Amino acid sequence: MATHWSLPPTDALRADGLRIADLDTSGTPGFKGGKKQASGYQAERAQVLSGLQEKLYANGRSGDYRNILLVLQGMDTAGKGGIVRHVIGSVDPQGVDHASFGVPTEEEKQHHFLWRIRKALPRGGQIGVFDRSHYEDVLVVRVHNLVPAKVWEPRYDEINAFEQELVGQGTTLVKVAMFISLDEQKRRLMERLERPDKYWKFNPADIDERGYWPAYQEAYQVMLDRTSTEKAPWHVIPADRKWFARLSVTELLIDALEKLNLDWPPPDFDIEEQKRRLEQA
Ligand code: AMP
Ligand code: MG
Repeated sequence: MATHWSLPPTDALRADGLRIADLDTSGTPGFKGGKKQASGYQAERAQVLSGLQEKLYANGRSGDYRNILLVLQGMDTAGKGGIVRHVIGSVDPQGVDHASFGVPTEEEKQHHFLWRIRKALPRGGQIGVFDRSHYEDVLVVRVHNLVPAKVWEPRYDEINAFEQELVGQGTTLVKVAMFISLDEQKRRLMERLERPDKYWKFNPADIDERGYWPAYQEAYQVMLDRTSTEKAPWHVIPADRKWFARLSVTELLIDALEKLNLDWPPPDFDIEEQKRRLEQA
């Protein structure tokens, strides 16, 4: 890390005090190189991530209840799916617990907004991934007034309390908000209309949502201001450059895993005794 970053990614991407309106979505804060330098490095760091994840998984199998929860938020085409495919895709799928959150079902609508979220929380030893999350309930819901303000307004505090509870239970939250420019989104949506392998990702409603861009920017700003806490901070990722977003999330996950100070779990059997038994078997 030391040679490629001028600032640790956890600092370079920290949301504190950041104004989204001032963000250069094509920037690469803290990273010294460009795409070329990043590609070999990404492969190297993916190996590190994979090794750490295996240790987390091994500990989970031995009763460690700690886990990681990666929360991905961003407008359509921001690259959330790419993070899942390329970053999470580099670790052992056995240790990944993936959940995506769309428009709530009829059943989900009859419950508190955290009901479906709680059901999807990762077990010990897992890396949970939320592709969209409880934050939709203060983003799309706020922008479109899907419930009255008196319902969504208290949700910021509820979310903070919920996340503190998760932290207390051994979860490390890695909250990532990905930002692209309006132009970059247009380019990516156009690509979805031009490539047969991408039609399936296109949703006509995504074009209508572009009309609400400023309202979303505001909702994202309030989200960062009100829910970036010491124990569960937000990271802001300029995401016009996919390679940067992927490398950044890789680094944030590595950092979170390193802070768990994981070791290989000790054997719960006598090694010498088992060797003797095996010799004779
Ligand atoms: P996608 O992630 O592209 O599959 O789209 C999922 C859609 O579900 C997005 O348009 C989200 O805004 C929407 N969505 C997710 N959570 C909620 C929610 N709590 N209330 C309303 N819409 C939601
Ligand atoms: Mg979509």
